[in-house]
Amino acid sequence: MKDARKTAVLFMCIGIFAAMTSVVTGVFAIRRHRRQPPPTTLLSADSVAALDEAATSEGLERMRRSSLPAPPAPNFAALARFIADQSEGTYIDDVLRDRNGHVARWIARPDNPVQVWIQPASTLSDWMPEYPRQIRDAFRAWDAAGLPVRFTFTDDSVGAEVKLRWVDHFKDAAAGRTYWSRDQHWWIFGADIEVALHATSGARYDALAVRTIALHEIGHLLGLDHTRDETSVMFPRVRVTRLAPADLATAVLLYQLPPGAVTADTVTKHSP
Ligand SMILES: [Zn+2]
Repeated sequence: MKDARKTAVLFMCIGIFAAMTSVVTGVFAIRRHRRQPPPTTLLSADSVAALDEAATSEGLERMRRSSLPAPPAPNFAALARFIADQSEGTYIDDVLRDRNGHVARWIARPDNPVQVWIQPASTLSDWMPEYPRQIRDAFRAWDAAGLPVRFTFTDDSVGAEVKLRWVDHFKDAAAGRTYWSRDQHWWIFGADIEVALHATSGARYDALAVRTIALHEIGHLLGLDHTRDETSVMFPRVRVTRLAPADLATAVLLYQLPPGAVTADTVTKHSP
C-alpha cells in the first residue's frame, strides 16, 4: 500500500467500464419498472447511474496488536449450530466466505460509543454543507440497529477512533473506501473512511448518494462484507437508500459471534 501508516483492511468500491455501466443501468431501469418498488427506497436515476460505476475489489488486510481482551476459545460445533439456526434472513454466509471463516467486529461497548470525526468542510468542487449531516444520518441509521456498538460525533480529529474525509474522486472509480483496523483477536478498533464527491466520469454524487455510500462504508466499519443480495446496502453496487432487513439481521447476528475464526475448517486450513 502506498499509505503505509494505515493499519487497515482496504475496501475499494472500484469502477466498472462505461459500456458495462450503460448496460447495467439500462437493465436496472427495466427491472425497476417491472418491480414497482416504493420510490423512496431507490436512488435517483442520476445517483444510480453514478453509483453503477462502483463495484468492489478484494481488500488488503492489515493487523495491529491491541490490548483488547482475547475472546473465549471458540466452540466450533456450537458456533456452527448457532449460525445455522440464526442465518435465515441474513447474508452471514457471504460475509464469512469473504472473511475466510472469520468474524471481524468491535468489542461490545454499549456505554462507550465510538468517537467519529467527520471532516466538517471541504474546498473540493461540489462539496455541499449538507453532506456531513448525511453522514451523521447514516451513522444514526446503523445506531438504530441496536448493536452493542454505537457512534457519537466529535470535533477532535486527532483523538477520534473513526475519521471520515472527503475526496474528489478515486482514480479507480471507487465511491467510498473504509480502511479498518483490527487486532490479533479480530477486534475492530478504528477506521479511516473516504467518501468521494464524484464518480470517475465526473458525475456528482448528490446528497442521497453520499448518504448511501456512507451506509455502505459504515457496514464495512462494523465488520460486514459484501453480499449478492441487491436489496442490501452491502451489495457492491449499492442502489437502495435504506438499510434492508437483511443488513440489520446480519449485523445483529455478527455481534452475537466471537471475533476470529468461527469455523473449524478455517483453523485447519490456516493454523500452522
Ligand atoms: Zn464495499
